[in-house]
Order: sequence, then C-alpha cells, then structure tokens
Amino acid sequence: MKQAPAAFYAPSMKRPYNFSAGPAAIPAEVLEQAAAEMLDWHGCGMGVMEMSHRGKEFRSICEQAQAKLRELLAVPAQFKILFMQGGGLAENAIVPLNLSRAGTVDFVVTGSWSQKSQQEARKYAAQVNVVASSEDTGFTSLPDPATWTLSRGASYLHLCSNETINGVEFQQLPDLQALGSDAPLVIDFSSHVASRPVDWSRVGLAFGGAQKNLGPAGLTLVVVREDLLGHALPACPSAFDYRTVAEHQSMYNTPPTWGIYIAGLTFEWLGRQREGPFSGIAAMEQRHIAKAQLLYDAIDNSGLYLNKVVPHCRSRMNVPFFLRDESRNDDFLAGARERGLLQLKGHKSVGGMRASIYNAMPLAGVQALVDYMREFEQKRA
Ligand SMILES: *Cc1c(COP(=O)(O)O)cnc(C)c1O
Repeated sequence: MKQAPAAFYAPSMKRPYNFSAGPAAIPAEVLEQAAAEMLDWHGCGMGVMEMSHRGKEFRSICEQAQAKLRELLAVPAQFKILFMQGGGLAENAIVPLNLSRAGTVDFVVTGSWSQKSQQEARKYAAQVNVVASSEDTGFTSLPDPATWTLSRGASYLHLCSNETINGVEFQQLPDLQALGSDAPLVIDFSSHVASRPVDWSRVGLAFGGAQKNLGPAGLTLVVVREDLLGHALPACPSAFDYRTVAEHQSMYNTPPTWGIYIAGLTFEWLGRQREGPFSGIAAMEQRHIAKAQLLYDAIDNSGLYLNKVVPHCRSRMNVPFFLRDESRNDDFLAGARERGLLQLKGHKSVGGMRASIYNAMPLAGVQALVDYMREFEQKRA
C-alpha cells in the first residue's frame, strides 16, 4: 500500500477548533480510526463504503451501532431505532405522512426550524395549530407549557428541542399528559442529540440529522415508539413508512452505510467519555454545562459582545452572539481564523456570530475562543 502524504493524514495532529453549526466537527479519534480502516475494515479486504449492506460485516456494524446508541441514550425496549435518509427537512414531511392520520397536529414554534416544520406539515395534515409561539420575542425565549392551548384529539405535538439558528433549548421536555393531552410528543433533536439524557417517558418520536452531533451528513436518526408505527397515509412512500423501515431493520432500501459506520464509531467514543463520576452521555452533559457557562459568562461580562436569549432558555449547543460594533465583524472573523478558530460566522437570517459547541468541541476549544474574544475586545477598547 502506498503511503499517504504527511499533510493528508497525520494521526493526532493538532487541528483547528471548528465551530460549524453543521456539518460539524467529528472527534479526531473517530476520524483517525476511520482513516486507518478506510481500505480494509477488520481484515476483510474491503472498506466500509465498498461492502454489501446485506453482508455479515456491515450487518454487525449496523447492529452494534444501534445497540450502542440504545445503551447510551437509554432508549426503552418499546422504541425502535431507525437509520434513515433525507435529514431533518425530509422528516418534516415524513412525520406527518406517518403520524398525522390526516387529522389535526399541534406545533410549538420557537425558531426557524419549528417554523419550517409547521409549514411543511400543512401539506399533509388536515389542520395545523400553532399552540404557542415565541415569535413576538424574536425567538429569544420559550413559551411556558402552562400557557399552551392544546388541541383536542391532536395526532401529535411537534417541537424543536434545540433551535440551532436562534440558540434556544428546552432544558426540560413538557409533560403533555399533565397538560391534559394524549397526543404523542414529537421532538426535532437534530442539534443536541447525545448531548444530554432524553426523558423517553415524555416522547413519542424523536428525529435528528447526524451531521451536528453524531457523524457525517446523510444519516437521519429516528427513535419511535412502537404503537406509532403502521398509521402512514396511503401516499407515504414505502421507503419513508416507519413500519416498513422498522420491519426491515433499516435496510428496506440501501441505508447510508458510511454514515452508520461513523456514527457507530462516534457512539463508541461517547461511551468512553468520563467527567469525574459521570460517563457517556452524563459526562457529555457535564462538559456541555461547563462549556456553555464559560462562553455565556464571557459574553455577559463583556462590553462588546451580546447574546439576546433569556438566560434560562439559552442553548448549550449553539451560542449566537453579536458585536455591539458590527463594523468589527469581519476583523473579528479574520482574527479568529488566524488563531485556528473556524466557522464562527452567524446564520444569514440572524447575522453576527454563532459558536456551535457540539460533542466534538472540547472545553479547551471554548477556552481558546473566550481568550481570543477578550483579547479582541481589549485591542481597541
Ligand atoms: C440542521 C437542522 C435541520 C435540517 O437538517 P437537514 O439535514 O439539513 O435536513 C432540522 N432541524 C434542526 C433543529 C437542525 O438543526
């Protein structure tokens, strides 16, 4: 085998800190293992991208990824774990195709993503009710569940548990039964999956693209309670019918094999993480609390930077912030790039900056950002 040029692959080389909102950084250990196994997976003579999804090698990769995820997120036995394609945006259609029963569905609109989701659902559900919205605050807060006006007999209620663009996150999922509704709760957890435990007793279905916190783009994770399978509308494509996908162990059509493999390596990596007495997802949560506090404190204690989100609604994953002097934006980004702090530009709909600090971002990366922010502020203060 020919040696790869050094600049192309150097194990454990110091990499820049990548704050991209997605596709986002992947743990270096995962990338190194994938690189080492690229041409020959475990001595079988094939790389993962080249093997049949029906062969015993890939079946074992897929089964182990699923089992590891179930263990990590403590997914109860009555939930199916599905590996699909199409991303979060396709799920905006696939969920109502499977769960709306052509009836009424409820939405809580807390930012760009839930807004998009409710618009798409209108194509498939007979009625879409926005039961609460924080649009009047510019999506800088979350509406208190006690104020939601839930529809009677809704097929489900959808919310986005972490709004990637607006930087608001539900610190607790609502208990719909306590609010007098039997509707299953659907959550879009694309941008904070595997960063904190999930209270499955409150969830009917959770979906998320992998490219934020789990691996490469192209894989969509769906975790769905069994009783919600088998109710798809007649027009639902077979490849998007949750029951069909579940009955075929996510292999009704060719699954995104590379994405499943990298996600599986990431699940193993997550399982190895430790913070004091905590391990796995609980360790990640501790780390995220520390990272988010470090960054929000730096913003709140500065005269230059500003985050507009109400403190108890702030996302641990996506931290949008503004420079009070917007004429310094380009300077700020250029200086950051020079320091190896990449992809800090805010989403075009919001402007300013955004630091996405997902699972692969260590505390040292946030510290490097905070150090740079202080220095930049003092430079011309
Ligand atoms: C990124 C994102 C999506 C969209 O995912 P695609 O894979 O681009 O379809 C949906 N919802 C949330 C919360 C996201 O962060």
